[in-house]
Amino acid sequence: MLKVHSRCDLSCDHCYVYQHADQTWRGRPVRMPPATVRAAARRIAEHAREHEVPDVHVVLHGGEPLLLGAAGLREVLAELRAAITPWTRLDLRMQTNGVLLDEELCQLLVDYDVRVGVSFDGDRAANDRHRVFAHGGSSHDQVRRALALLRRPAYRSSYAGILCTVDVRNDPDRVYEALLAESPPRVDLLLPHATWDHPPERPGPGSTPYADWLGRIHRRWVDDGRPGSIRLFEALMPGGGGTEAFGLAPADVLVVEADGTWEQVDSLKTAYHGAAGTGFDVFDHSVDEAARHPGVAIRQDGVQGLCATCRACPVVDRCGGGLYAHRWRTGSGFDNPSVYCADLLSLIDTVDAYPAPGRAAPSLWSAASPVDDLLDDLATGHGSPQTVRRLADDQLAITRMLLAACRELSDSAAAWEVLADLELKAPEAVRAVLEHPFVRPWLVHRLDPSARSGARAAADPLPALAVAAAVRVGVPVTVDVPVRADAITVPTLGSLLLPGLGERAEVTVLPGGFRVRGGSADRTVLLDTVEPSAGWRQVRDVPTPAGRMSIEDGDPYRDCYGQPVASRLDTPAAQALGRTLAEAWQIVRRDVPAHAAALDGGLRAVVPLAPDPARPLRSATARHAFGAVAVTPHSDPETMAVLLVHEWQHAKLGAVLDRYDLVAPGHSTRITVPWRPDPRPPEGVLQGVYAHLAVTQVWRARAATDGGEASAHAARYLAWTRDGADALLASRSLTAAGERFVGQLRHALEETRVGSR
Ligand code: SF4
Ligand code: SF4
Repeated sequence: MLKVHSRCDLSCDHCYVYQHADQTWRGRPVRMPPATVRAAARRIAEHAREHEVPDVHVVLHGGEPLLLGAAGLREVLAELRAAITPWTRLDLRMQTNGVLLDEELCQLLVDYDVRVGVSFDGDRAANDRHRVFAHGGSSHDQVRRALALLRRPAYRSSYAGILCTVDVRNDPDRVYEALLAESPPRVDLLLPHATWDHPPERPGPGSTPYADWLGRIHRRWVDDGRPGSIRLFEALMPGGGGTEAFGLAPADVLVVEADGTWEQVDSLKTAYHGAAGTGFDVFDHSVDEAARHPGVAIRQDGVQGLCATCRACPVVDRCGGGLYAHRWRTGSGFDNPSVYCADLLSLIDTVDAYPAPGRAAPSLWSAASPVDDLLDDLATGHGSPQTVRRLADDQLAITRMLLAACRELSDSAAAWEVLADLELKAPEAVRAVLEHPFVRPWLVHRLDPSARSGARAAADPLPALAVAAAVRVGVPVTVDVPVRADAITVPTLGSLLLPGLGERAEVTVLPGGFRVRGGSADRTVLLDTVEPSAGWRQVRDVPTPAGRMSIEDGDPYRDCYGQPVASRLDTPAAQALGRTLAEAWQIVRRDVPAHAAALDGGLRAVVPLAPDPARPLRSATARHAFGAVAVTPHSDPETMAVLLVHEWQHAKLGAVLDRYDLVAPGHSTRITVPWRPDPRPPEGVLQGVYAHLAVTQVWRARAATDGGEASAHAARYLAWTRDGADALLASRSLTAAGERFVGQLRHALEETRVGSR
């Protein structure tokens, strides 16, 4: 372990380096000088060469090693690799508080193949109990940002895990969920350093609070099917292999302090001032000389190095007397059981009594559900096109499930066969139809038991979907399609209004269109002709950078916004709306290109809302209609741009909420927010915060060139978003995944002009 920097940018009150008995850090250089790094590297290489050691693990430690900065860190890593790699396999690691981690440092860690452990004590309340700056401020957001960086595919190879120090006053469920929400490859749960002279805090009446607390986490972990590695539990299992803290394996850790002195394990600093000292240094003494120090040698003796109580203990092979430092008592030195002895015995009982894996599936809302980079990406405020595509894929999967359920109610075997056949021959055509935003509302309506008959009954959607897909491919099929109010709707293409059709029409797909026959009516519809067929109301398109977007003013299932939608626009009105939308899209690109890219990834249709003189500027999204937003036709593209961005946030978050529970179920909390007079449920606040984050980003971008009014808007939305996010976090109504999402979103808010021009 190399103490490459002996100071820290945090001031944790449980830190054994600065807050416990040993205070030798005060006399040490702030950073390890290059000559000391070189000498340490040569000593390690010398040892590896002489003993033909196959692997050496070097952990960069502190204080805080990232205080070296990128240049200083690169020098250290280069020196270690150059000196040691010729002689042995070098496993480079780092333990950091993560506060300073950024993309440049992550790339450096990847370049030098360094695996990073991050110190993080769990949910906000748990982490802020100890892990704070000197001014008392929280480090929670910074650390989670660091963890999010390490989860990125580009840096994930450097993500070793999380080191969490236990505090039994924290809620073990929330700590467990918060840790797993960060997808760590491994979690190390660390008992707080204590000795018989300074025993651990034992709040509450129980005699083994640490075993009880850890036992709760162990039960969750086992019930969830052991998602990820928790080293403490694995080490305590029969044959678990042990660690520095448990088991009887010989100690194999030496520390090089910033001044080049060899020391014993760091945790001894908790025992007494100078406890870890050896009197040796890397300039004059080899690894072998340091390892012969009595304090190191006694920990090579297995059970013979333990006190009489431990030697007689039935679980000594698994416990190993606990961490060496925890045995200290003035007078008898280290010849004692661990000060956590009762807890360790009880915890081993727990591990033995509750071993079965996979007792239950992870609950959907808990952080044990798969934690996804998708959430982190969306928490930037916009999300990448790839992420939006993934949301669209999820939505499509839901639509397919609903379609399968609707098949049970359908009497059109032919329609299902057409869809199944096209799914094999032309899957993109089926996908294009099923992704139409108003297919899912139709399917949901069809499945609603209260709308199976009478005036509200939905027509069987399968035949119309089959026709729409077949027309796209030009497959000559014939399907019977139900008629409603003298009309049939072909999703994504348009509607045919044809009086006299009766209740069912026979639709035959032809090259370039289709023929409809029913009752007394017979009409051929040719698409893409200059002169539209009589009664055919084709969906009108707006060109966008990503291709096309529809003005959807004909699909009957667009009526899902809880407010009146406009009936079909006349041609001049549709053209005017099309121009406004196209210009608005360009303005989004100008102001917030990252948001424009997210629009490109998924916005397929705009629904005109019915005009209302009392509320001329309205917009909406519907949870079942991903890919569409509804707006009042407005002539100002600058305003329309804000509406598009705002509503697209709701659409994305709605899709996220189909996948993850970010709000804990069953919460009746109501939260006061600055943008509405009535207290809101947590999910409503979350929606508002996410939409306002994007609007803040738009106005910030505009304020950069326009100032004035734009700055005032930016300031207002910033304050709303910040207050809303803080109120959400304080409400404790979020799941661990929700907390992480809002915390990162809160951080994105503070960054200026994300993705702006
Ligand atoms: S981050 Fe680590 S080294 Fe820094 S004060 Fe906290 S516990 Fe100590
Ligand atoms: S510390 Fe306690 S549990 Fe552990 S080996 Fe010693 S006596 Fe056994």
